[in-house]
Formats: sequence, structure tokens, C-alpha cells
Amino acid sequence: MIKGTTRLTGIIGWPIGHSFSPQMHNAAFRELDLDYAYVPLPVQADALASVIAALPQMGFRGVNVTIPHKVAVMQHLTQLDESARLAGAVNTIVFEEGRSIGYNTDVGGFMGSLAAFGVEANGANVLLLGAGGAARAVVAGMLGVGANVTIAARRRDKAVELAQLFPLVKVAACGWEEKKFAEVSEQANIIINSTPVGMHGQAEQILPLDWSVIATDAMLYDLIYNPKETPFLRYGRERGQRVLNGAGMLIEQGALAFALWTGRADCRAAMRKAMEEKE
Ligand code: NAP
Repeated sequence: MIKGTTRLTGIIGWPIGHSFSPQMHNAAFRELDLDYAYVPLPVQADALASVIAALPQMGFRGVNVTIPHKVAVMQHLTQLDESARLAGAVNTIVFEEGRSIGYNTDVGGFMGSLAAFGVEANGANVLLLGAGGAARAVVAGMLGVGANVTIAARRRDKAVELAQLFPLVKVAACGWEEKKFAEVSEQANIIINSTPVGMHGQAEQILPLDWSVIATDAMLYDLIYNPKETPFLRYGRERGQRVLNGAGMLIEQGALAFALWTGRADCRAAMRKAMEEKE
């Protein structure tokens, strides 16, 4: 029950109605008997600065940040954690003693989900499809464990732009129409979809992969969690490949944010249960 003492958290983005985070965090607060609540906060770009200034005034402990504010919000914060600097984006804010501190738990969430699945990425050839915000977190995490990353996007310039954000390490980039795309598909040990292709509502679209060259022992990871199995994962599973959807990353990035706000690291089971009940 929300009381006068309840500490507030939430998620800012636009649109926000599709987000599963409110159910996931509120289920964990309930399960752990913590006097916190998590609310969806629809915020448009022109209101971002004033909302960030107002939230701590209204007693918010912190918020998650989602599309389209993950990069734009950085300039409105007093401090950036190393994780946010590394990823070039913020998905979690903690309000503390007059400061607003930006973190990125997508990187840890993505890498944590890989580790939980027993995937060894050190030295692996990684083909990353898409070059948006989530791709940025994937690149940051994969470079941290010494993987060789190629970013492939429908617009080559976007892939190159993302690769250039990591100047200290060589990150390859190509467009989906290039010959190089088929070459890296053939060499890939891990293929990751970070585009919305195959998402609920876009399930009729398919990724332009040449399955005849993809190794059957390559692992496939789709960041999408709704539906549980996209055409990309279904096709790979039918070929006998190891497949993983985005549910693990969603829970892990949420659990890391939850720990930053509450100091509690034991929320994963409650979050997973909330996710399973939704399905
Ligand atoms: P984003 O910043 O909008 O980036 C989307 C990327 O996909 C861009 O490169 C975009 O290319 C490309 N794209 C969009 N529609 C496409 C299409 N029809 N065909 C080919 N490429 C297309 O979004 P994001 O934040 O990175 O999120 C991407 C996906 O990851 C979403 O499905 C999201 O739900 C999922 N995600 C999951 C988690 C998790 O915890 N599991 C976390 C974050 C994101 P253009 O630049 O050409 O438009």
C-alpha cells in the first residue's frame, strides 16, 4: 500500500505504456516488504530538464530512463558513474544528497544474462545487428571481455557512427547490403539482434540473414522479450542452435537498478516470477 512514508521510483520515457518495469519492480518491492513504489512517468523531450530537476524535490529516490531519453538525460545530471560513461547513455538515476547520479545497468544486465546462460564471450566473434541505444550497451560489455565485435545495421553510416564511439578498440562496421555482412555472418560465434525486428507488432518482419552460411554452433541472442520467441530465435532453435531471449537482460538490468535504490540484491526471483506470470 502507498503511504506517506513510501519512497518513490519510476521510469521516464515516451511512450511508456508498453514498459514491463512497473510490474517487475512493484512485485519485488511487495515480495521483499519494502516501502517503495514504482510509477510510469510519460515525459516528452521538451520537459526532460524540468522533470529531472523536480523529481528529487518530490521525494523520488531514483528513476529508470528509457527511449528516447537515455543519451539526452546525461547533460541534466550532476554526476555520471563509470558505467554510464562507458556506455555513453544513462538508464538509471539515483537522487542522493542533492546530487543526481547517472548509471547504466544495461551493460551489466546484458553481460550478467550471458554469464547466467554460461556464454563465454572472450575472444568470440560477435555479430551485432542494429546500432541504437541497446547496441551501444552490448558493444561496451562485449569489448570489456575481449570479444571481436562487428556492428551491422540497415544503414551503414549508423553502424560506423557507433563503432567510432569506441576509438580505443577496433570495432568493425558494415551495412546489411554489403558482401562483408555475409562474411562476418559466417565467422560469427555469437549473433545478437538489437533491432526491434521480430518484436510484438513487428513479427512479420525478418532479419536479412543468410542462414546457409551461419554456423550451427553459433549462439543466437535476441534482446527482444515480447514475444518470448522471435522468428530469429525460432529458426535458430529449429536448426539446433543455442538461443536466448531478452528476458534475462531485462531482469538483470532491473535488479541492478533496484540494488542502487534500495541496497537490496535479492529481488531477482520476484522479478522473474512477475515476468512468468505475465506470459
Ligand atoms: P533504438 O535506439 O531505437 O535502436 C534500434 C535499432 O534498430 C537502430 O539501429 C534502428 O536503425 C534499427 N531498426 C529499427 N527498426 C528497424 C527495422 N525495421 N529494420 C532494421 N533495423 C531497424 O532502440 P533500442 O533501445 O536499441 O532497442 C532495440 C531493441 O532492443 C528493442 O526491441 C528493445 O525492446 C530491445 N531492448 C531490450 C532490452 C532488454 O532488457 N531485454 C533493453 C533495451 C532494449 P535505424 O537507425 O536505421 O532506425
